[in-house]
Amino acid sequence: MRTSMLFTLLCINSLLFAQRDFSKVQITSEKITEDVHVLFGAGGNIGLAIGKEAAYLIDDQFGPLTDKIVAHVQTLTKKPIHFVLNTHVHGDHTGGNANLANAGAMIIAHENVRKRMEEADTPRAKEAFPVVTFNDKMTLYLGNGKSIHAMHVNPAHTDGDTYYYFPEDNVIHMGDNFFSGRYPYIDIGSGGDIDGLISNVSMALNIVDDATKIIPGHGSVSSKQDLKNYLDVLVTLRERVTKARAEGKSLEETQKMGLSKEWDQTHGQGFINPDRIIEFIYLSAD
Ligand SMILES: [Zn+2]
Repeated sequence: MRTSMLFTLLCINSLLFAQRDFSKVQITSEKITEDVHVLFGAGGNIGLAIGKEAAYLIDDQFGPLTDKIVAHVQTLTKKPIHFVLNTHVHGDHTGGNANLANAGAMIIAHENVRKRMEEADTPRAKEAFPVVTFNDKMTLYLGNGKSIHAMHVNPAHTDGDTYYYFPEDNVIHMGDNFFSGRYPYIDIGSGGDIDGLISNVSMALNIVDDATKIIPGHGSVSSKQDLKNYLDVLVTLRERVTKARAEGKSLEETQKMGLSKEWDQTHGQGFINPDRIIEFIYLSAD
């Protein structure tokens, strides 16, 4: 009894400590082309495209950071943020939706992003919901000869994953289909799937060329070669894990085999450790 109470208290404590202190977060940015920037802070990378009349954001990190994000955008352009496009539903990419909508932005995302927000156990402010949804593709024309192509891809990280491609600038934001140089999170509870991830990354490799700047959901701006390296890791791990599974190994046994050992030091030190990437693949590979 006493032990279980102590355990409960410890859990509550760790939940409280898990509440992040955003006051220390600094927003920085990198200029990719004349009209496209990427912003870093806490959570998913933010794409910024500057059109003729307006600024367009791809994702918006966490709600407490909105003021800092907007202030940083204003150092890059005086145009108002009229559009926010989400790569998927997770709170580290959509947490600023409500604030930005209240400030006059239109929130746009795949229809499954809205659906998952509507059905979430922890309700969000209605203002966070996308007010324009699409089910496959959509193009935005920025009035300066530039465009943003939204492409819904196979369920991979979640079932609302969208790539935003800027053909005139040769830039693509891949959301959390790309964790550059690290193991990806596959949110199986939100429709995530390793096979979808591998097919989406392969598809992206057919769109990009050696000059394309790739914005990953997490990590630095990357190249086609970086994306190839990431795909190689996923494909090799999938092969090894499905082989072990086919031989009848349990998940726990598979996790003890050291199947990812050559990348664990570089890729497995962050949010997703070696056991978790093995688990995602074990549970979701066909
Ligand atoms: Zn995510």
